[in-house]
Amino acid sequence: MKASAFAYTRATSVALELLAAHGDRAKVLSGGQSLIPAMNLRLICPELIVDLVDLRGVGVKGDILSIGALTRHVDLQRSPEIAAHAPLLRDAIGHVAHPAIRNRGTIGGSLANADPASELPACMVALGATIVARGCGGERRMAAERFFTGIYETALSPQELLVAVELPFAQKHSAHFFKEFARRHGDYAIAGLGAQAILNHDQFADLRLVFFAVSERPVLAGAARMLVNAPVTPALLSKASRALGEELDPYEDQQASPAMRRHLAKVLLARCVSALLSRPDLAVGATN
Ligand SMILES: Cc1cc2nc3c(=O)[nH]c(=O)nc-3n(C[C@H](O)[C@H](O)[C@H](O)COP(=O)(O)OP(=O)(O)OC[C@H]3O[C@@H](n4cnc5c(N)ncnc54)[C@H](O)[C@@H]3O)c2cc1C
Repeated sequence: MKASAFAYTRATSVALELLAAHGDRAKVLSGGQSLIPAMNLRLICPELIVDLVDLRGVGVKGDILSIGALTRHVDLQRSPEIAAHAPLLRDAIGHVAHPAIRNRGTIGGSLANADPASELPACMVALGATIVARGCGGERRMAAERFFTGIYETALSPQELLVAVELPFAQKHSAHFFKEFARRHGDYAIAGLGAQAILNHDQFADLRLVFFAVSERPVLAGAARMLVNAPVTPALLSKASRALGEELDPYEDQQASPAMRRHLAKVLLARCVSALLSRPDLAVGATN
């Protein structure tokens, strides 16, 4: 099947006027790697496609990385600034689909699409990113934690563009972890975890654990607080694991049951804490 008929325009400065005039009958096009398949399946039938043509690149402003919405996944993967200051993002990008899709797909498109199984939304929450949106009334900034509101839902209005993402530089003594379970490398995850930590010798001074593909949106786990500023023993990790299990409310699909997703999240928690603290003894046994 092919998409239904639509009007098409390439736009920069007039994009906002077009979106304001057409409301939810218009759709923004970035890399097209999610939008075009959805149109071809006629899951959505926009009357107007507004193809964005600028907003690309990674810049540094003080100790903030500013990433234009049209920056492609492959650009993030190759960026020395991302590797130096947001290595969690660099590690995650390698799990997003395949090279052909990473050559077209963009960070703005991925975040605006808000697929619950996507890697990048979880990384944005773990890294404490700020999402920059622009509408006819001007710009507004939102913490990534508040941006993702549900399955394919964000805090953007149909008249707004996501124009950039701002990431604070990784701090001194920080460490990160990224892992996902998928049927094949490059498939959407069945369960995944992006984590950013600050270490104080053999303890966590801060720990942001963000699980994806287990809920309608990225989950910043409250259970992580139990592991901060405390010696992490197997007993404490088991307690945090149980708290995580109670906190998550996983969905069911063709790939996994809620019980399987909950179990995989606990396995990820144990592997993450073990890796970040370089404690192989913690890698197993905390999944009950
Ligand atoms: C076979 C396949 C496998 C994939 N596997 C994965 C995977 O494992 N992990 C993963 O994360 N993704 C995966 N993807 C999706 C891919 O990463 C897309 O690149 C991404 O989801 C959308 O980015 P895009 O730039 O192509 O956006 P588009 O498809 O152009 O747009 C997606 C949606 O966001 C809106 N939008 C786009 N840009 C903006 C903006 N700046 N402001 C406001 N709204 C905007 C569009 O209107 C549309 O609704 C896969 C895609 C395919 C086809």
